[in-house]
Amino acid sequence: MRTPICAVRPETGTAEITGWVHEVRDLGGLTFLLVRDRTGIIQVTIPKKKAPEAVLSAIKNISRESVVRVTGAVKPIEKAPGGRELIPSEFEIISMSGSPMPLDVVEKVPADLDTRLDSRFLDARRPRVRAVFQVRSTVMQTANEFFYSRGFINITTPKIVAAATEGGTELFPIAYFEKEAFLNQSPQLYKQMMMAAGFEKVFEVGPIFRAEEHNTTKHLNEATSIDMEMSFADHLAVMKLLEELVVLAYSRVADQCGDNLAVLEINDFTIPKTPFPRLTYADAIEIAKKSTGEDIKYGEDIGTAAEKAVGEEMGEHYFITDWPTEIKPYYAMPYEDRPEICKAFDLMHPRMELSSGAQRVHQHDLLVHQIRSKGLSAESFEFYLTPFRYGMPPHAGWGLGAERLVMTMLGLSNVREAVLFPRDRHRLVP
Ligand code: ATP
Ligand code: MN
Repeated sequence: MRTPICAVRPETGTAEITGWVHEVRDLGGLTFLLVRDRTGIIQVTIPKKKAPEAVLSAIKNISRESVVRVTGAVKPIEKAPGGRELIPSEFEIISMSGSPMPLDVVEKVPADLDTRLDSRFLDARRPRVRAVFQVRSTVMQTANEFFYSRGFINITTPKIVAAATEGGTELFPIAYFEKEAFLNQSPQLYKQMMMAAGFEKVFEVGPIFRAEEHNTTKHLNEATSIDMEMSFADHLAVMKLLEELVVLAYSRVADQCGDNLAVLEINDFTIPKTPFPRLTYADAIEIAKKSTGEDIKYGEDIGTAAEKAVGEEMGEHYFITDWPTEIKPYYAMPYEDRPEICKAFDLMHPRMELSSGAQRVHQHDLLVHQIRSKGLSAESFEFYLTPFRYGMPPHAGWGLGAERLVMTMLGLSNVREAVLFPRDRHRLVP
């Protein structure tokens, strides 16, 4: 029976382990192997004089990263990882690894990100990389449980669509028989339609596709969005949900991923405090102007440099609220008394935007008006607009980028570190 390597202790007496050969050291009379599974590393010690013939012949030509099964006695030893070693009575090579390998798993010489991503399966054998994806898994589980526990319905909306969510240029056209079709940029229109269906509370965790022109450290062409939409709620209610989810994700990772954080050498993991500070767009622009010395005009989008400057000033998660209606999508609800600003918000980590949301326009005629004033044609949105004519409740929602959440949580320098097989302008394989 196979024992996870982390559970192998001197008290065990004997143990059988399976894993990858992490290192081989031949000291003449003694051969040391380090064997690794996803739970840890153990030293396997083979004294040449005493070891069974079969063991000696098995290890003769062993290569690093081969998969092996080892059975033997467990002995305490001070200097080995975990304070124990395995003295094999049986040694089986299950799957021999070729050499040299395309990437060094032990990484004595650090490889650049591109080389690592080319051999992601080997890269992911490294404890640091696995730690990131274990944390990501915990974050995703938390998001799902968060919504289920609050009575949200998990929906799946189409990723092949005929119309762009926001017009826009960030669309991937696809070959769809004789029709024009695209990969969906966001579940926005569909989750709103489910408000017309009376589902009241929906969420979706799924892919979004954006033809981002430029390679940046925070944009992917295929990202994962944690989306929610809720009826009879305004922007303030869903902002509260958003900060609750972010804090819960941090808390769960702190509680359940201590080992992973240790592997990542994160010693100062702090759970953000709620409520997150709120900054109006107008105030954010003022701060950005002052600290960058640049002439940023009211009504401009908050660019990367401005975002960074405001983030440094704030030093924690915060919201930017009360955006100019002109620079937010048509579905954001303008304030009744000041229609030039709207009930849209961005959730910001000091390093970058994590989420955008809003109370939505639920009045058909106002929506048509806003679509037209963005220079879009209402006709191409008919499937979306019709539901607004037959009893659409007021509603609000947001979309939260899963990779950016993990990236900022773990202080990763590139969003590509938070996704197994990133898609960017130059990367389509593997
Ligand atoms: P940005 O301005 O930073 O490019 P955005 O405002 O275009 O982002 P939204 O349409 O508001 O993005 O999408 C909601 C969230 O989805 C973003 O806050 C972000 O976390 C995530 N997201 C959007 N586009 C990408 C992308 N290309 N790569 C990774 N995450 C993304
Ligand atoms: Mn946004």
